[in-house]
Amino acid sequence: MKVGIVGGGQLGRMLALAGIPLGMRFRFLEPSMSCPAAALGEVIGTPYDDPEGLVRFAQNLSVATYEFENVPTATVEFLQQSLGVHPGAKSLQIAQDRIQEKHFFKECGLGVQAFHAVGSSADLPRALEAVGPVGVLKTRRLGYDGKGQRVIRNGDSLESAWIALGKVPCIYEAFVEFEREVSIIGVRTRVGGKPQVAFYELCQNEHVSGILHQTVVPTPEGDRLTALAREQAHAVMERLDHVGVLTIEFFAHGDTLTANEMAPRVHNSGHWTIEGAQTSQFENHLRAIAGLPLGSTALRAPCVMTNIVGTLPTTATVLSQPNAHLHLYGKAPRAGRKLGHITLVG
Ligand code: AMP
Repeated sequence: MKVGIVGGGQLGRMLALAGIPLGMRFRFLEPSMSCPAAALGEVIGTPYDDPEGLVRFAQNLSVATYEFENVPTATVEFLQQSLGVHPGAKSLQIAQDRIQEKHFFKECGLGVQAFHAVGSSADLPRALEAVGPVGVLKTRRLGYDGKGQRVIRNGDSLESAWIALGKVPCIYEAFVEFEREVSIIGVRTRVGGKPQVAFYELCQNEHVSGILHQTVVPTPEGDRLTALAREQAHAVMERLDHVGVLTIEFFAHGDTLTANEMAPRVHNSGHWTIEGAQTSQFENHLRAIAGLPLGSTALRAPCVMTNIVGTLPTTATVLSQPNAHLHLYGKAPRAGRKLGHITLVG
C-alpha cells in the first residue's frame, strides 16, 4: 500500500516510521527536498498547490493524508477527485479557521470562552466590548506554535496589536486563567461501514512561549476530566464523520474544560504514544485512513515527553538515562524550532 502525505515534516517522518513495519510505502508532497521525511520515502519537491506536482504525487497512491492543517483546500479537492483523502475536507476546513472552529465547538456542546471576529477597524470596539480588556488577539488562519498572536492586557491597545499582526482577519478571545492545559487524542475509522473510535490517556501539557515544552501522562491530577474530554472529542468526531486521528487542546479549570483548538492530525502532545501506548498515534492514524482495525490505545507506562527546541542536546548524555528515548527530526538548529523530543518512560 502506498500512502501519500502532504507535508514532509517530523509528523510525516514519524508516520512513515510507524507505517513501514505494516508494509506501507510513502510519498511526500513537500517543497523542501531535504525535509525530515525525506529519509523515509519519495519526495515530490513542488509547492503544495502546484498542478503538475499534484498529478505526480497522486499517481498510484492507495490513500492520502496530511501532516499539517494549513494545506490549501484546493490541494485536498484535487486529490479527492482520484483517491481517498483522510481526514476529510470538513475536518480540515474547520481546523483552518479559528472562528469557524469556535462556532463548531459550541454546536458540539463544548465550552468556549467569549470571542469576537476582527475583520476591520470597525470591529475593534465591538470586540473589546464583547470580550473585555484582557484577551488574546490571534490570526484566524495560519497560526502555529504561538505565532500570529498577541496577548492584550488591561490598557493595551487592541488596534496596535491588530496592526502588528498585519491587519489580517483575526479572532479576539478572552484570556483564560487556566489551572492547566490538557489535550485528548482520539482516533476514528470505519471498518465495514461501522465506526470504530478509541482515545488515548488525557495528556497534560506545559507550553513555553506558545510552544509545547512538556507532556505528562497520566495527568498528575488523575482522571477527573478524562471522561468529559473523551465525550466532547467523540461528539466532534461524529459530527465530522472524521477518519484518522483528531486532537483537541483544552484549558482546564476546576471541573470544566474550555476548548482551545483542534487539529485533524497526529499531535505533538501524543508523541509519548510511540513508547507509552500499545499502539502509537502514528500507527493508529495510518490504520484508520487505510480502513484497518485500530490497535489498542492502552497506556503501557507513565511517560514524560520533552521537546527539543532551538539547540540539540548531546546524544550520549540523553542516552545515559536508560529509560530515555531520543527522537531527532534531522532539522538544522534554529531558535524556536522543534528539533526533536525525548520521552522518559517510567
Ligand atoms: P494556541 O496557538 O491557540 O494553541 O496558543 C498557544 C498557547 O498560548 C496555548 O497553549 C496557551 O498556553 C496560550 N494561550 C492561547 N490562547 C489563550 C487564551 N485565550 N488564554 C490564555 N492562554 C492562551
